[in-house]
Amino acid sequence: MLGPALPCDVLVVGGGPAGATAARLLALWGRDVVLVARPEAPSADLPEALTPSCRKFFDLLGMSPAVDAAGFVASTGHTVWWGGATRVEPFDGGRHGWQVTSRALARLMLDAAVEAGVRVVRGGLTTEEVLAWPARYRVDASGRAGVLARPLGGRRYESGHRTVALVGRWRRDDPWPVPDPTHTLLESYGDGWAWSVPIDASTRALAVMVDPRTTALARGDGATAIYAAEIAKTVHLARVFAGAQALDGPSGWDASMYVADRITGEAWLLAGDAASVVDPLSSAGARKAMASGWQVAAALNTALGAPGMADVALRCHGTRERETYRRFLALTRRFNAQGAPAAHPFWMDRAGDDADEGADDAPAVHAVFEKLKAADAITLSLAPDVTVEPRPAWRERDIVLEPRLVTPLVPDGVRYSGPVDVVLLAGLAPASRQVPDLFDKYVERAGPTPLPEFLTALSTAVARRWLIGL
Ligand SMILES: Cc1cc2nc3c(=O)[nH]c(=O)nc-3n(C[C@H](O)[C@H](O)[C@H](O)COP(=O)(O)OP(=O)(O)OC[C@H]3O[C@@H](n4cnc5c(N)ncnc54)[C@H](O)[C@@H]3O)c2cc1C
Repeated sequence: MLGPALPCDVLVVGGGPAGATAARLLALWGRDVVLVARPEAPSADLPEALTPSCRKFFDLLGMSPAVDAAGFVASTGHTVWWGGATRVEPFDGGRHGWQVTSRALARLMLDAAVEAGVRVVRGGLTTEEVLAWPARYRVDASGRAGVLARPLGGRRYESGHRTVALVGRWRRDDPWPVPDPTHTLLESYGDGWAWSVPIDASTRALAVMVDPRTTALARGDGATAIYAAEIAKTVHLARVFAGAQALDGPSGWDASMYVADRITGEAWLLAGDAASVVDPLSSAGARKAMASGWQVAAALNTALGAPGMADVALRCHGTRERETYRRFLALTRRFNAQGAPAAHPFWMDRAGDDADEGADDAPAVHAVFEKLKAADAITLSLAPDVTVEPRPAWRERDIVLEPRLVTPLVPDGVRYSGPVDVVLLAGLAPASRQVPDLFDKYVERAGPTPLPEFLTALSTAVARRWLIGL
C-alpha cells in the first residue's frame, strides 16, 4: 500500500533503466527525487543483451564497478545468420557487453538510486495520482504501461512493426554448440526472426519474433504450439537447441515500435519506453532508456535551476527523443532489408531504405576539397538563407543555448562538422582570402586542429551551401 504522496522536486514513475537513471542523476546533482516503482513481478523478467556502448552510461552513473561485480555473462559479440549469410562478429576493440535480465538490472539501478538519496516507494500509481502528486515535475518512466504517455502522449504505433516476442528459457548440460557461448545469436527465417542470449553457462533464452496479424496467434492458436512451430522454421537455432531442455515459457511480450506525439507537456516528461520503443533487433532498448533518463535529468536540472529555460529544456528532450527514434527506425528497416530471406509481408512491411537517412554527400565534399586545393584565392560568405541563431544544446547536466548555423533544411542548426566549430569557421571565412590564412586564424581561436579535419569541414560547409562564393 502506497503511503502519503511525498512532496519533491521530481516524481519519477517506474524503476527500469530510464527512471532509475533520471532519478539517480538528479539526486546526485542535488535535486529532491521520489521514485515510485511497482513491486518486482517474477513473471516480468526478460533476458536482455546490453552492448558495450552501455559502459558510457554506467560510468556516468558511477555504476561500472557494481555492474562488473554483478556476475552477468560478459558477452564478446554476436553470431548472426541473417538473410542467408553467417557472421561471427566480435565487438570492436576487445570490448564486452553484458547479458542481463531486466529484473537484475533494475534492482542494481534502483539500489544505486537509493544510494544517491532517491526516496524509492514501492507501488503502482494511477494517472490521476501522478498528476496530483505534490512535485514540481513528473517523469513517466513506466515503460509500455505509459501512466502519462497513454492518456497524454498520443502513442503512435509504427505501421508494419507489430511484433510479439515469445520467449522461453532452455538448459543443456553439455556445451552449447555455438562459436562463442557468450554471444547473442540472431537468425532470420521466412516470416520472422529468432534471437538467443545466455543467462548463465548452461541456460539460454530463445525468443521468436512473430507478427500477431499474420501468424496463427491471430487465430488464437496456443502460444506453445506457435513457439515450437516458429523454432522449427529456423535452421541454425533449431540445431543449437536440439536436445536442450525447455525450462519454461513461452511468455509473450509486445515488441511493437511506437513513438509518442507529445513527449513533454505541462510539468511532465516521458522517458525511455514510455516515450518511444525501438525494435528489440537493435539490442539497444536499455541503452536508449538510459540515454533518455539522462536527457530528462539534464532537462529537469536546467528547468529547476533556471525556470526561464524550462520550456527550451523540455522541448530539447522531446526533439532528441524523436530524433533517436527516427534513427533507430531507419537502421531497423535497413537491417530488415538485408535479413529478408523471402518476399513475405513480415519482411516487406518492416524493410526499406530511408531516402534521406545517411544521404551521402561525400562526392560533393570531395569535389569542393579538390577545388579548394587548386584555388589561388577564396571569397567566401554566409549563404543568404543561413543564419547564426541560438539553439539548445545538451551538456552533461544542463541544456544551454549555443549559437548554431541554421538552414532551411536543418532548423535545429549545426555547430560542429567533425571536431571543427562551423559557427566559428563561418564567422572567420569572409575575412580570409587564402585557405592557410583561414586555417591559422581558426587555430588561433579554437586551438590545435588537425588540418585534414579542418579542410573536410570547410569543404562540407561549401558543399552544403552554408558558405558560398568559392
Ligand atoms: C522481447 C524483448 C527483448 C528485448 N531485448 C532487449 C535487449 O536485448 N537489449 C536491450 O537493451 N533492450 C531489450 N529490450 C528492450 C528493453 O527491455 C526496454 O527498452 C527497457 O527495459 C526500457 O526501459 P524503461 O525504463 O523505459 O522501461 P521498463 O524497463 O519497462 O520499466 C518500467 C517500469 O515501470 C513500472 N511501472 C509501470 N507502470 C507503473 C505504475 N503505474 N506505477 C509504478 N510503476 C510502474 C514497471 O513495473 C517497470 O518496472 C527488449 C524488449 C523486448 C520486449
